[in-house]
Amino acid sequence: MSVSTAAAAAAADACSTEMSVRAIAAHLKSNPSAKVIFMVGAGISTSCGIPDFRSPGTGLYHNLARLNLPYPEAVFDVDFFQSDPLPFYTLAKELYPGTFKPSKFHHLLRLFQDKNLLRRVYTQNIDTLERQAGVANDLIIEAHGSFAHCHCIGCGKIYPPQGFKSKLSEDPIRNFARCEVCNELIKPAIVFFGEDLPDSFSKTWSSDSEWLRGKLRTSEKHQQPLVIVVGTSLAVYPFASLPEEVPRKVKRVLCNLETVGDFKSNKRSTDLIVNQYSDAFAEQLVEELGWKKDLEKILKAQTAATENPTEQLLEVVHDLEKLSLDRPEHEAVDKKDKRPLHDNNNNHDNDGDGKEVDKSSTQNNGNA
Ligand SMILES: [Zn+2]
Repeated sequence: MSVSTAAAAAAADACSTEMSVRAIAAHLKSNPSAKVIFMVGAGISTSCGIPDFRSPGTGLYHNLARLNLPYPEAVFDVDFFQSDPLPFYTLAKELYPGTFKPSKFHHLLRLFQDKNLLRRVYTQNIDTLERQAGVANDLIIEAHGSFAHCHCIGCGKIYPPQGFKSKLSEDPIRNFARCEVCNELIKPAIVFFGEDLPDSFSKTWSSDSEWLRGKLRTSEKHQQPLVIVVGTSLAVYPFASLPEEVPRKVKRVLCNLETVGDFKSNKRSTDLIVNQYSDAFAEQLVEELGWKKDLEKILKAQTAATENPTEQLLEVVHDLEKLSLDRPEHEAVDKKDKRPLHDNNNNHDNDGDGKEVDKSSTQNNGNA
């Protein structure tokens, strides 16, 4: 491709991205009672410093080369873990919740929740940044598990995360968390290769699919839902089958650098494609929706919570109180409970929903 053709192609891409974002905003404006289902992957966390799994050169699997794995994916293989737990421990130390802060896109999810427009977030990520951004536990399905619970790989006994976490603080790591019953290794409820996905994944998707079909049948206007898929290569099943199973009349959006999965192989005439980074997408969408100030407030609250100077905190509290005055009483109370000021990395221990590995038929055929 010549330079001028490449430039023209880039300009055309930018133009079609802009048109797609406008179309998404237009849909949300004309369907003010609609709710959105998000399906997200590693791409939404790369700007937080978490490498995605598959990018050549920068991906997590590439970085694992120094751990002397027989093959990169072995880090998520139960048999390999049993023979050598150190690579997974090393990875867990890097990824353990609390090290990273949510991205703009994570905060956009929170904004959809605050606007009462969020039906669900299906995430392949194990970084819990959706929770850290303040999205309510019952609105998140962590399809590939999380660090919130641990279990023994021998007898299945469930353990709180603290025992595993305490081993990560040793430098170098020499000891591994073991079961008090059978002395086998204890591992977080991250879904490894060949393991079942959490029961909540298929149960919730079944209920959400029914909800989508119900919305198509309803005669009430302004409620047409939207499914937005972001930052995923749609390479890992069963997660990748979710967009395929969205009823044909429901509008789907893909925001990803490349057009992938069912959006490529089975493109629907109503699909909207945004070939863009997720944070840039968040910025463009809030602009179109008139939510820019709301996003700025959330980002300011995060900065204040991170840096913690009293002045900034007071300013943010003042802003939030002003915001609450404009809302009904119950909603205002709700907002206060969810803001990040009260949310310092404490909400990955408290969710009993869907972490235990379950006996459903859906199995993971690869992480992220
Ligand atoms: Zn055991």
